[in-house]
Amino acid sequence: MNTATHLPPIQEPTLRHQLELLHQRRDAIRDELMSMLSESERIADASSTPQVRDWKDTAFAHQLAGVHSTAVAQLREELSAVGEAMARIGDGSYGTCRQCGGPIADERLAVQPAASRCLDCQSRAEQHV
Ligand SMILES: [Zn+2]
Repeated sequence: MNTATHLPPIQEPTLRHQLELLHQRRDAIRDELMSMLSESERIADASSTPQVRDWKDTAFAHQLAGVHSTAVAQLREELSAVGEAMARIGDGSYGTCRQCGGPIADERLAVQPAASRCLDCQSRAEQHV
């Protein structure tokens, strides 16, 4: 019964839990993206309508659209990170740092289920930005 099975770096129940977290995060990001996109569409509409005569309003609308597109870009990035993390669960490399190949701490994955780097590599990468 106790045959040596190929175990992923993280125990099965944990993986299933992480996958659930990733699904929830993906849904939340999608919801956020949807509301942001419809909002920025409204802003775009408002700035192109002749009713907006005050140049300040127009400038403000453009500013808002800029803020939104940054936030949207960040969400899209996170969405793809979540997708990658799901793929890594599938191929058994989840929980392994893509930079140094070392394990990513469980506590880190609990907070950031889509993390693809260990804390050391992540802080090093952020310093380069
Ligand atoms: Zn690392």
